[in-house]
Amino acid sequence: MTQTQELVNWSYEEKCEKAVESLGRNGFTAVYCRTAQQAFDYIVAAAEGAATVGFGGSMSVADMKVADRLGEMGKEILNHSMPGLSLEERVAIMRRQLTCDLFLTGTNAVTLSGFLVNIDATGNRVGSMFFGPKKVIVVAGRNKLVDGDIAAAVKRIKDSASPPNARRLNYNTPCAKTGFCCDCSSPDRICRITTVIDRKPRLTDLHVLVVNEDMGL
Ligand code: SF4
Repeated sequence: MTQTQELVNWSYEEKCEKAVESLGRNGFTAVYCRTAQQAFDYIVAAAEGAATVGFGGSMSVADMKVADRLGEMGKEILNHSMPGLSLEERVAIMRRQLTCDLFLTGTNAVTLSGFLVNIDATGNRVGSMFFGPKKVIVVAGRNKLVDGDIAAAVKRIKDSASPPNARRLNYNTPCAKTGFCCDCSSPDRICRITTVIDRKPRLTDLHVLVVNEDMGL
């Protein structure tokens, strides 16, 4: 590892630790993970008693390839992003995610004050984050940290997450072509539901893994 990488990691570690501390103060079970592998191991251990595991469509989680391991462990995987599914089949899986044993997702932003900020098009992902599943694990790479308020978190999402996500999902939005948000009125607009989870939801066992690696968008 170069000295530059060491210093970047140190700088992010300080930010990750601050976010973990704030999330803990806000009632979440917050854990610092030095690597994505540590987050992977945490998820596998947490899934021990779960029969059904839902996936919210997060690239952070998909890139970890944890679904393969959980499938080998005999878990039923509820993933509406599997290729070849009809719209009806996708919606049926999304509904089942709302009541799964363990729900895995990323987050679009985490403020250093310990808030989770997200923007969704359908709402299945954010809905499952705060009520329904018995346990929720949110994986937050260091690139999701925002040293600022909710407006700064929304700006991060509109600058860095929504345009490439619209492009990834082949939506016909201006940002999918230009890379910049213009607060469009497109029928394909993916920014429809903005949520702020500022304290642990009362009935949801919500864990946040803050990882000192860039993960997802
Ligand atoms: S509001 Fe429209 S242009 Fe802006 S990020 Fe969302 S989908 Fe893209």
